[in-house]
Amino acid sequence: MDNRTEGVIILENLLLPQEKFNEKRAGSLVGTITAVSEYLRLLYAMIGKCRDSSSRTFQGFSAKSSYGTCTSCNGTETVIDIDPARMIASELSLKHGAVLLWAGTICAPVFKIKALAKMIGIDYEKPLAEQDRRFMDILLYGYEQEPVSYVYKKKQATSFYRGCVTDLRYMRDAGTKSKGNLRAIRFFSKHVRCAACNGSKMAPELLAATIQGRSIVDTLRLPIQELLLFIRGLPHSLDVHELEVYSQVKDEIELRLVYLNKIGLKSLMIHEGE
Ligand SMILES: [Zn+2]
Repeated sequence: MDNRTEGVIILENLLLPQEKFNEKRAGSLVGTITAVSEYLRLLYAMIGKCRDSSSRTFQGFSAKSSYGTCTSCNGTETVIDIDPARMIASELSLKHGAVLLWAGTICAPVFKIKALAKMIGIDYEKPLAEQDRRFMDILLYGYEQEPVSYVYKKKQATSFYRGCVTDLRYMRDAGTKSKGNLRAIRFFSKHVRCAACNGSKMAPELLAATIQGRSIVDTLRLPIQELLLFIRGLPHSLDVHELEVYSQVKDEIELRLVYLNKIGLKSLMIHEGE
């Protein structure tokens, strides 16, 4: 099934208002704004040009969620991920457990970090805050220039120090069942901006699509009047098939935008991206 056939089917299935928009019965403002945004997403999915044409397959449709919603955060803008800022207590020295993930344990990384400190010149007994800031990055994300030799359980070992953030990620992604590890993962994690959609809530393939060089995010940010002009001016750049899709949504977008413009709304992206 190509995009165009898919497009027609999606249009029929979309949970968009079935009735033509009527400003006398405009209903909820959020509903009106959302409807325009959904029609625009659809338009981008169907006729948007992608830098990488292989990603021109939009799987984002589901009856329960908006079309083209980011599947990493399910449109919530955030995901729970490791927060590096929590992983080092810089007021402590390495001796007193500045690298919190391993502080107070006798795991191999404790010995490795001690050897690493000696190797690159971190003062083991001095608070990290009083030392070169680059040491913090190394402790968090690793040291790639040379491997560290250390002794653990009376055995000599040599390996690269990959950083406590990486260690914790490995633990998490390997599906650790250890209570202590799970506690650590919870402790060092928090809600962070979703990297897949950069907080836009939309699927990366939708974000990558452009119409007349504009992404969906650029378009949603346009002042309503400019957005109207953009929509009205689209036919010039569309081929026959694209025009077919456009004609199915154009009136519904336009009627709502005229109404939103009349009541004085500035843009569809209310207070976003500021
Ligand atoms: Zn996301």
